[in-house]
Formats: sequence, C-alpha cells, structure tokens
Amino acid sequence: MLKGNEDMSVVSLLHCEGYEYEKVKSAIDSTFINLGGIQKFIKPGMKVLLKINLLMKKKPEEATTTHPVFVEALVRAIQEAGGIVTIADSPGGPYTTRALENIYAVSGIGQAAKKTGALLNYDLTYKEVPFPDGKITRSFAVITPALEADLIISVPKLKTHGMTLFTGAVKNLFGIIPGIHKAEYHFRMEDKKDFCNMLVDLCEFVKPALSLMDGIIGMEGNGPSAGNPRKIGAVIASTNPYLVDVVAAKMIGLKPSDVYTIANSVERGLCISDLSKINIVGEDMRAFLINDFKLPTGRSLSFLDGMPKFIQKSINRWVSPNPLFIYDVCVGCRDCEMNCPPKAIKMKGQKPYVDLNKCIKCFCCQELCPKKAVEIKRPWWMEKFLQ
Ligand code: SF4
Ligand code: SF4
Repeated sequence: MLKGNEDMSVVSLLHCEGYEYEKVKSAIDSTFINLGGIQKFIKPGMKVLLKINLLMKKKPEEATTTHPVFVEALVRAIQEAGGIVTIADSPGGPYTTRALENIYAVSGIGQAAKKTGALLNYDLTYKEVPFPDGKITRSFAVITPALEADLIISVPKLKTHGMTLFTGAVKNLFGIIPGIHKAEYHFRMEDKKDFCNMLVDLCEFVKPALSLMDGIIGMEGNGPSAGNPRKIGAVIASTNPYLVDVVAAKMIGLKPSDVYTIANSVERGLCISDLSKINIVGEDMRAFLINDFKLPTGRSLSFLDGMPKFIQKSINRWVSPNPLFIYDVCVGCRDCEMNCPPKAIKMKGQKPYVDLNKCIKCFCCQELCPKKAVEIKRPWWMEKFLQ
C-alpha cells in the first residue's frame, strides 16, 4: 500500500523531441497541468530551489548535466506563477566558488540564469541537520540554499550510473551534500545496498515537492559522465520521486529490483513498482521503451543478491569490476586521487595507481575524471562468463 495521498501515485509522462525552447516550455507547462496545475505547487513570493544535476564541467550536448534549455523553461514557468528561483547543486569534487563558476559557464546554466534572472547559488556554507527518522543515516550535512528554500524541485537527468546502476530523481539529491562530504558517505556506506538505502533516507529528509526529469536526451553506457548521449524523448514528473525513477528505469529496460534505491523504496512502502497500478497521465509508456539501452560495465551481479553479506564480500573480491586507468588519455590532473573516498589512489610520475585492497568500488574516480580515462573492468574470465 502506497503511503500518502492519491496524487502520490500520479506520474506525468510527455514526449519532447529535442531542446528547442518552445517545445520544452510547452512540455513543462503541460506537465504542471497533468499534475493539477502549477498553482498547486508555487505561491507568489515563494523561494524555490531547483536542485539540478551539475555533476561536473561538461557541455550540454554531453548529456551529463541537466540541459540548460530544460532549466530555462522550468525557471520561466515558476516565475510566471510568482516563484523566486535559485539554481543549486554541489557538484562532484571540491565545493568552491571557482568550481561552481566553471561548471555554470560550461554547462550553459550560467547563461540560462542570466536570461531568466534566476539566482545561481554561490553560498558555500552548510549545516549538519539531524534526521532521527532515517533508517540508516540519522543526520545529513546539507548546503544552505536547500535549507532556506520554501520548496525544492529535483531536476535530474536520466542516466546510467556505475555504482547505483541508474541515477534519477532520488540519486540527484546526493548533490545537496556539500563537496567532499560526499566521500564520507561513500566511505561509511561501502556496500551498494547501504549506500542506496542512505539515498532513500536522504530523499525522505529532503522531500522534494516535485521531481521533474530531463529524459529528452539521457546517458547510456558508463554513466553518469563517461557514457554516451541517447535520445529518449521523455519528460517525466511526479510529486513522488520514487515513481519518476520507476517509470524511467522501466523505459531503459531495468527491473525495479535491479535498482537498489527503487527496491528499497518499495520495501519501505514509499512507492509501487507495478506499472499497471501507477496512474501515468499523458502519453503511453510503451512508446518510450528502449530494449537496447546500454548499461554500465560495472553493474552488480544479481546472482549474489540474497547471499549473506560476508559471502558476497568474498566473492566480490574476485568477480567485481575494478577501475582501470587509460594512461594514454590521462592528463595527470589528480581529480581521481583527490576524490577517492578511501585514498586508494596515489599518483606516481603524474599517473594514478590504485591500491585494490583499499578500493571500495564506488567508481567516483570514473565519475569525476574529466577525460574519460577511467574504465571499469571485470577480470577477463568474468567478462567471458557474463557474455
Ligand atoms: S585518470 Fe582522469 S582524473 Fe585521474 S589523473 Fe588521469 S585524467 Fe585526471
Ligand atoms: S579507486 Fe576509484 S573506485 Fe576505488 S575507492 Fe577510489 S574512487 Fe572509488
């Protein structure tokens, strides 16, 4: 049984062909109509935080970050309803003014803010906030703009993810944790399931009023940053972030049980995974199904699920994928070394080397490498076994 009111089972699903402003604005306006009208969410004078995905300094066409036209159209819709918008994210790596300036400029978000008059966050402060209801995390370090907003909207990009398999409305909220604090969460929750359960705790803590996914062009393969753009043509939204992820995951061929954030939210009664029971308003879900969407090479082995943790751990040591550095491509920037939660990477002669005994397989090194110089590879015999 789904907790909350009836509206929590409604998902708006609309087709949008590309990033032409008029088309995107029309899809966003229709999304709000499908969900009961924008006035239901936005009141005049309300401070609205758009938590977009600004993982790293990437151009819009690389499909790593929420597209600037999507953000521009959403900002304008909120402004028309009288809301005051701040755009924020704590990207991967250090949370500094310089890093934010660079990412805003390259991702096109700076330009979107300039055009619309939306505020770009440069407040680098944060606060540790208790969350006694958390199942495995009882407090979170949270960036100040997220604490000061009257309302938070999660605006994720539909992408694959090396560690969590998929990143959508729930995983997007990890960016309200400031900079390198994120590494602590990886370090403390080394097990993927624990990490994903923490993400569900975080989502319950943030309780975004709305999740509106940029699924127009997503990322397949080795997401969230080293994969390839893939057209999906979908704008997906709901007041229930978990349902946005259920619908998006289904589109790209994933089962709810494959994605630990979804499986955990179903287990907690926060969401249903049976599509026939989800009230999808807008277009027919079947028109969006993609049967050859490429998944990350480092995904989990489902046959290990259900085994005791200590057995999973010892099997994983032999069969799980490891980061592999492509030295011809690596430019020695040290981003991987600086962002490795257990400090398993050391530079030798400008090139990174990993101590696999320390590596917790979080794949932050791959996620944050600006040159796609990190591959995630299983032992060759395991690859053969999986073929
Ligand atoms: S692997 Fe990537 S992140 Fe690491 S030093 Fe090389 S280029 Fe930089
Ligand atoms: S080497 Fe890469 S995958 Fe291993 S712990 Fe460090 S960042 Fe994570």
